[in-house]
Amino acid sequence: MRRRGKGVCLLEASDRVGGKIHTVRSDGWTIEMGPAGWLDHEPEWHKLCEEVGLGVETSVAGDGERLLLKGGKLHAIPSGKLGLLRASFLSPAGRLRLCLEPFLPRRAGDPARSITADESVWEFGRRRFGKEVASTLLDAAASGLFAGDSKTMSFPAAFPHLAAAEKKHGSLVRAAWKGTAPSDALCTSEGGLQNFSERLAEGLGSSLQLNAPVDSLRLENGQWIATSKGEALSQSQTVFSTAPAGALVQMLGHAAPPELRTFAETLVTTSLRSIPFRFDESAILRPGKGFGILAPSSENAPFLNIQFTHSIFPSQVPPGKALFRALVRGKESQGDRSLSEETQQIPIYTLGHLERLAAAEQAVARALPGLYLGGDSFFGVGLNPALRRAMLCADRICNT
Ligand SMILES: Cc1cc2nc3c(=O)[nH]c(=O)nc-3n(C[C@H](O)[C@H](O)[C@H](O)COP(=O)(O)OP(=O)(O)OC[C@H]3O[C@@H](n4cnc5c(N)ncnc54)[C@H](O)[C@@H]3O)c2cc1C
Repeated sequence: MRRRGKGVCLLEASDRVGGKIHTVRSDGWTIEMGPAGWLDHEPEWHKLCEEVGLGVETSVAGDGERLLLKGGKLHAIPSGKLGLLRASFLSPAGRLRLCLEPFLPRRAGDPARSITADESVWEFGRRRFGKEVASTLLDAAASGLFAGDSKTMSFPAAFPHLAAAEKKHGSLVRAAWKGTAPSDALCTSEGGLQNFSERLAEGLGSSLQLNAPVDSLRLENGQWIATSKGEALSQSQTVFSTAPAGALVQMLGHAAPPELRTFAETLVTTSLRSIPFRFDESAILRPGKGFGILAPSSENAPFLNIQFTHSIFPSQVPPGKALFRALVRGKESQGDRSLSEETQQIPIYTLGHLERLAAAEQAVARALPGLYLGGDSFFGVGLNPALRRAMLCADRICNT
């Protein structure tokens, strides 16, 4: 928006910018306590990084080079077009069932509804690839990537790219054969993600207000007034909120439409913690190669996923050292305790998310003109959906 000459005022509750992005740097280690990077699906990241004078670092190991924990053992998740047919965690019957996928019809939509009826991640996996793939790979992806339960998590809300690929090509295997599968490279900005948010914020100058938790947002004579601790901080025609849905409802008070309230009340969230484990390479038997480890819920693993940072972004680890980053739920605490105390809330999109979202969005557009919804409560968990939504709203705001 600043690029287009629009004035922007950013009100941030905490004492730093970036939200869940939080990088700790010391003695040659760059440790991400929140997101590790973005998947290389959005060219806009490269433009933005260039604009703030930062290079983009692309992962050495691809997101596809993962291991799967099954039966207490680690199995490679084979990549490539027919890779899964070699997967050692699938039985011969499970692999045979996979071969049917290109011949199955796409899911029939309901013509009476604008939104296709929802489907869980597990049900999608069972329908297209069979029960074995649903209970291993799809289940591990739901918990490892989104801390969710594959049987209650909405597939189209959590994996919109895959849902769109099925709609377009009918089969995901055929979509992969046509080379339309998105890149699985993870990217970060030079020196870690926080460098990026700090550089962006520098350009805001005095329009950035830290330690400014908005407690009330009200519309008066076509102007939005944001106040914090009784003091009006800003007045504007439009507001783009990336606060969690519950916080936004509180700010709006009685003006919050019932659909937005219902959305916030039904949104499931969980607390996550990223725990770094730092080693001398010589002190470990097998320095992990590849991207990391996922585990289906049947394994009852004490982690949601583990990333091998030294093999993903070697520049973030001093020479001769290894860094494993475990993502765990809530309070489980091991590893480097000095760094692992920070928990963060993330939403989990359960069945019906897209329908509740559409109702909330329509109600907000009707009742609260000039308020734009954003943030991971609504439009996708991850840095890519955050960027996409921000770009879309910036366009809409600049064109009104
Ligand atoms: C441990 C962890 C690992 C992750 N790993 C990845 C990953 O590798 N790749 C990926 O793409 N995604 C990852 N994610 C998800 C990703 O980090 C988030 O989806 C994304 O950062 C959300 O951005 P956001 O702007 O929606 O929300 P946030 O980053 O949470 O920002 C919201 C901001 O609003 C502020 N705020 C809240 N209330 C108020 C108020 N009343 N007044 C003013 N300000 C307020 C908050 O202080 C915060 O700064 C991870 C998440 C976690 C927790």
